[in-house]
Amino acid sequence: MRQVEAGNVELFPRHEMLDLIMEDGRARGVVVRNLINGEVKHYTADAVVLASGGYGNVYFLSTNAMGSNVTASWRAHRHGALFANPCYTQIHPTCIPVSGDHQSKLTLMSESLRNDGRVWVPKKAKDERRPADIPEDERDYYLERIYPSFGNLVPRDIASRAAKNVCDEGRGVGPGGLGVYLDFSDAIGRLGRDKVEAKYGNLFEMYERITGENPYDTPMRIYPAVHYTMGGLWVDYDLESTVPGLFVIGEANFSDHGANRLGASALMQGLADGYFVLPATINDYIARNALPPVADTAIAEAEERVNGRIEKLLSIDGDRSVDSFHRELGHIMWEYCGMERTEEGLRKALELIPALREEFWKRVKVTGKGEELNQQLEKAGRVADFFELGELMVIDALHRSESCGGHFRAESQDEEGEAKRDDDAFGYVAAWGWSGEGAKPVLHKEALNFEYVKPTQRSYK
Ligand SMILES: Cc1cc2nc3c(=O)[nH]c(=O)nc-3n(C[C@H](O)[C@H](O)[C@H](O)COP(=O)(O)OP(=O)(O)OC[C@H]3O[C@@H](n4cnc5c(N)ncnc54)[C@H](O)[C@@H]3O)c2cc1C
Repeated sequence: MRQVEAGNVELFPRHEMLDLIMEDGRARGVVVRNLINGEVKHYTADAVVLASGGYGNVYFLSTNAMGSNVTASWRAHRHGALFANPCYTQIHPTCIPVSGDHQSKLTLMSESLRNDGRVWVPKKAKDERRPADIPEDERDYYLERIYPSFGNLVPRDIASRAAKNVCDEGRGVGPGGLGVYLDFSDAIGRLGRDKVEAKYGNLFEMYERITGENPYDTPMRIYPAVHYTMGGLWVDYDLESTVPGLFVIGEANFSDHGANRLGASALMQGLADGYFVLPATINDYIARNALPPVADTAIAEAEERVNGRIEKLLSIDGDRSVDSFHRELGHIMWEYCGMERTEEGLRKALELIPALREEFWKRVKVTGKGEELNQQLEKAGRVADFFELGELMVIDALHRSESCGGHFRAESQDEEGEAKRDDDAFGYVAAWGWSGEGAKPVLHKEALNFEYVKPTQRSYK
């Protein structure tokens, strides 16, 4: 943004990249749609950098911004960019629980709350008493009980799964029983209300505005929600994808986090030894390759693909809204490829998703025109790509019959219900190639070599 302010970089807000311009197997620009007036335009370049974020919205409900989607990455994937570890999804434990079917977005409560808040549920199932009426000895501080060394500070995937388990046992609180308490009464007693307010006052206020409940007086209710996607386009150490000239940075690529994200943002990866990676590696790429101007035919082909797809979406004129498809897909993903995955559930999802996708292409209704602000059209294009991505996520989750970080396969757990990895069979990055509409994705394995730190079975007990 500093460079934008200095006049060195031109910013085009409200433009959505809908395809790559490809020439001789290289990325040579993008085709975009102006979201305000619908104009389809192209920009040619020596190299393309995607920084289009994560794809958690495939689940419909997530903590991501409403505009987050997979279209840019998916278009690149279809041109040959491998998509790595798509099933690795981070489910964050401290979100405000869903309050009803009307919702399309989830609000994250900062994780810092777990520093002082104690997580608990009633010991008894279906206990409908107010939290204040449940005596101490009838409460289960389950994280402190199961993980005495780490207590409420266990990593996100463990805290999330533990919350799911107690809710599955019927001990969840709030509407639908999908919530657990995050209780500050001890902290207020120990530190005083002023100190708690100084640390968390803004979060408490936000929570109260959303739920109408005051967390100083009654425990917060939280539940896990989709938050971050560790998978993404495969890149090398130069942050270049398998499509020459296509660089990918941030949450849009797969690198750094593996199956879990313990801390730090995808944004840190742009730095190596204190220097930004891309300005060096893109310059090298351009210096190595004498690139001629982009041929008109390559531009025309890309624009034709974009316009053809827009026309196709507008011409269906069916009887189901885009949101209803997105919601149903999200439900399938959450149910079968969410916090806990089973072979049976994943196989079921592999039947449901293609059937729903087929229905989408027959029955979706996109009102309005292409040459205007048309948010239904924007969404429809994104949901169409979510269908294909969702299927790949399920395929990835099914093939990885081990538990690993954010990917928990119910069949692969130890006697205490903890995730069991299988490093001999799955110690690799799964990078999937697109092999055409209706064809099976092709799996490429990049071996993981541990020279200094050997993988061990983790324990937070
Ligand atoms: C609520 C919340 C709290 C978080 N808190 C933390 C934290 O405390 N610490 C931490 O390390 N991380 C945190 N994260 C994660 C972190 O914010 C993200 O991983 C990071 O912002 C990703 O940055 P990015 O630039 O890669 O993508 P984004 O910030 O997602 O930016 C991508 C941009 O690309 C745009 N875009 C997408 N598709 C297209 C397209 N086809 N054409 C044009 N534009 C497109 C999107 O609209 C968006 O503006 C949090 C995330 C959320 C949602």
